[in-house]
Amino acid sequence: MSLLIDGIGELFTADDEGTVHYDAALVIEDGKIAWVGHRLNRPAADEYLDLDNRAVIPGFVDSHAHLVFAGDRSGEFDARMRGEPYDGGGIRTTVTATRQASDERLRENCARLTAEMLRQGTTTVEIKSGYGLTVEDEARSLRIAREFTAETTYLGAHTVPSGTDPDEYTALAAGPMLDACAPHAKWADVFCERGAFDGDQARAVLTASAKAGLGLRVHANQLTEGPGVKLAVEVGAASADHCTHLTGADVDALANSSTVATLLPGAEFSTRSPYPDARRLLDAGARVALATDCNPGSSYTSSMAFCIALAVREMGMTPAEALEAATAGGADALRRTDVGRIAVGARADLVVLDAPSFVHLAYRPGTPLTHAVVHGGSVVSSSAAKSSAAKSSAE
Ligand SMILES: [Zn+2]
Repeated sequence: MSLLIDGIGELFTADDEGTVHYDAALVIEDGKIAWVGHRLNRPAADEYLDLDNRAVIPGFVDSHAHLVFAGDRSGEFDARMRGEPYDGGGIRTTVTATRQASDERLRENCARLTAEMLRQGTTTVEIKSGYGLTVEDEARSLRIAREFTAETTYLGAHTVPSGTDPDEYTALAAGPMLDACAPHAKWADVFCERGAFDGDQARAVLTASAKAGLGLRVHANQLTEGPGVKLAVEVGAASADHCTHLTGADVDALANSSTVATLLPGAEFSTRSPYPDARRLLDAGARVALATDCNPGSSYTSSMAFCIALAVREMGMTPAEALEAATAGGADALRRTDVGRIAVGARADLVVLDAPSFVHLAYRPGTPLTHAVVHGGSVVSSSAAKSSAAKSSAE
């Protein structure tokens, strides 16, 4: 069964050429993009959908999210907005609530958030553990995460549980906890930061994780300059995430590596902190991704469009650069070539915008612009698209 999507006013492909096509059409077959081009050259297909000159972009790739948790921290946010600084200690609040929650409760929360993301156009999401911090609770977090995505990340080294010796906990995270979690995880991540894990502790967890067959990611340089980014590059991590406080050497290291700098402006927004300098990274030649960091403490947004708007307004990115970072950049941060781009052979993950141009993502911040979401070739969201399909098939 093939589907011709016609009447695309503007098509942002995020492919290698970074091309924007006008008056475009595309064909989906067997869940993949089978053809892309000018609508005058469109081939025939079994089904037809006319988008009435709307813009189409790749499905968002949210390469950094913490969705396995219980509890709510709006009180902490409220306190912070009244002037209390963020020190990362609030993670322990969520750890307590998560440990007490049933599997079903955690699963429901994860389902709610991934559905919320999909409705807004996110068709690939990475999900981390990190609110269990015991062998059993980390493993069950990853088992639940795996029900929702293939991109699961072991983050046992998220914070040192209170009353635990940091070196003893590091040995647990690099040993028995890793052994229990590795079967359910594709990636390993460490929060390398003052007050969390230092460079040596982070390296111990990362090298053990690589030996266990996991790909690597690092929470790096969020709150202060530190060893995180250099460590990420040294161990060949797919991504160094946050990158808010960088030295010139950090920027150079990223630019000369295959490690993606994943920027998470929702965290700076929610902690009222200075944003990372995306312009500096892009000008140096570093690969940049944007992601939500969706979590109950420091960035409780699931909206990639909101992150794009922040990146454009606050971080020196152009609308095209920000959208590229939120799609193909995120795919690169997960070392995926089948998502994040509209190209022949890629998975048919698309967002149809209720707008004539992708620029509206930043130009109309906070406005729901999702007309329809296509995931793996199926229209998964939007009643508007269904009525338009019905109308078209009657033509
Ligand atoms: Zn994070």
